[in-house]
Amino acid sequence: MTDNVDVVIVGAGSAGLSAAKTAAGQGLTFVVVEASHRIGGRAYTEEFAQGQPFDLGCHWMHSASLNPFVGIADKHGFNYRKDGDWVRGVHHHGAWLDEEQGKKFDALAEANNKAIAAAAEAGDDTPISELIDLDSPWAAYHAYWFSLGVSRDIDQTGAVDVSAYNDTDENWPVLEGYGALVAAWASDVPVTLNAAVDRIGLTADGVEVETSRGTINGRTALVTVSTNILSSGRIVFEPGLPDWKMTAAQELPLGVHNRIGVLLDHNPLAGGARDFATVMREDDEVPFAIELGPYGYSYAVGVTGGRFGSWLERAGRAASVEHLVENMRAVWGSDIVKHVTDRVIVTAWEGDLWTLGSYSAATPGNAHQRVELAKPIDDRIFFAGEATSPDFFSTCHGAYFSGIRAIDEISAVLSDKA
Ligand SMILES: Cc1cc2nc3c(=O)[nH]c(=O)nc-3n(C[C@H](O)[C@H](O)[C@H](O)COP(=O)(O)OP(=O)(O)OC[C@H]3O[C@@H](n4cnc5c(N)ncnc54)[C@H](O)[C@@H]3O)c2cc1C
Repeated sequence: MTDNVDVVIVGAGSAGLSAAKTAAGQGLTFVVVEASHRIGGRAYTEEFAQGQPFDLGCHWMHSASLNPFVGIADKHGFNYRKDGDWVRGVHHHGAWLDEEQGKKFDALAEANNKAIAAAAEAGDDTPISELIDLDSPWAAYHAYWFSLGVSRDIDQTGAVDVSAYNDTDENWPVLEGYGALVAAWASDVPVTLNAAVDRIGLTADGVEVETSRGTINGRTALVTVSTNILSSGRIVFEPGLPDWKMTAAQELPLGVHNRIGVLLDHNPLAGGARDFATVMREDDEVPFAIELGPYGYSYAVGVTGGRFGSWLERAGRAASVEHLVENMRAVWGSDIVKHVTDRVIVTAWEGDLWTLGSYSAATPGNAHQRVELAKPIDDRIFFAGEATSPDFFSTCHGAYFSGIRAIDEISAVLSDKA
């Protein structure tokens, strides 16, 4: 590892990788140190079978017209699907919602969103649970979709943070995998893998970063690890991080969003069938969204969020697969189960050693902590990562933009010192 670099970049997720590319473009010297055996962090694709990619982390290019990964996908020959082609439906207590029920369902979503936007506009950071209509028969569905959007439950996040997100309502999935796209885009970035940082100290004129593979000296450090890793204290800072910085990390916790996949022996749905169901069986209190055979692939994927996602993760892999299969049976009938193979992929992001969760959501009253989290310490320790993004937090492209922002700050400080 090169020593005495301009910046030591901690973490090779989307933020660290875009920081490295920006640093290279600006002529700064840098080292990227990554604790795990691979780059990408929460952007990670595996193959179910040959030619059947499955995203364990990010999958959708959100706010696509403002998302740099759309252009990156074009450049690297990746395909994506523009939204609108899904045959979606809500399967409630054994039957699909009819047109009339569907209208009421959509009207509730609209009313809820209006109430949240009005509270945010008034600067009132009330928990979402106090703003939306919980008496509606469809309330559980809307609470569930919130838990997927922010990875925490409706009582755990407030109107201001939710409304600060710049949502253009264009969510384009990457067919070959968003994780694979990030890996292809960053394949030219030199990264030292299996190098967990355990201490960052200030020296007389720079920083000293201790990793499991040796110590690196630099003029600055850029920390891109998740807020839950920062809060865990696993990286020791000397001197310790000030209280305001620790508070910012703690008030922007990562919740849980997991993806549960099973490979089928073929895609049994005929064209035009509903292939994207949000289902709630009679005895369940939390709905569950399932895509069956997305993009012609022969697997099914179900998604969980919030406390239920956390509970199911702890219940384990077999319980997660059973939850998916039994919900598939409820929607598409018993025959579907005959096509399920024993090849499964089940994520467990809360237990992931180097992330400790899925993505950040501000606790009520703490939307402003994103600005605090992004502030440097002593013009030598800088911060990036999705949680520092003011408008695209919790996303891969938000992390990307934060890496550029942080290197611009570092460049300005280093040129002032020159
Ligand atoms: C299930 C799931 C679904 C998602 N869906 C979407 C989606 O559809 N669209 C979207 O845009 N976003 C989505 N996201 C969010 C998106 O993946 C993240 O916001 C983004 O990838 C975070 O990038 P980052 O660089 O901030 O952090 P990370 O990707 O977490 O990168 C930080 C890196 O730091 C490393 N690290 C940690 N500790 C240390 C240490 N001590 N020393 C050195 N390295 C360390 C980690 O290993 C990691 O590689 C999803 C996330 C999950 C989990």
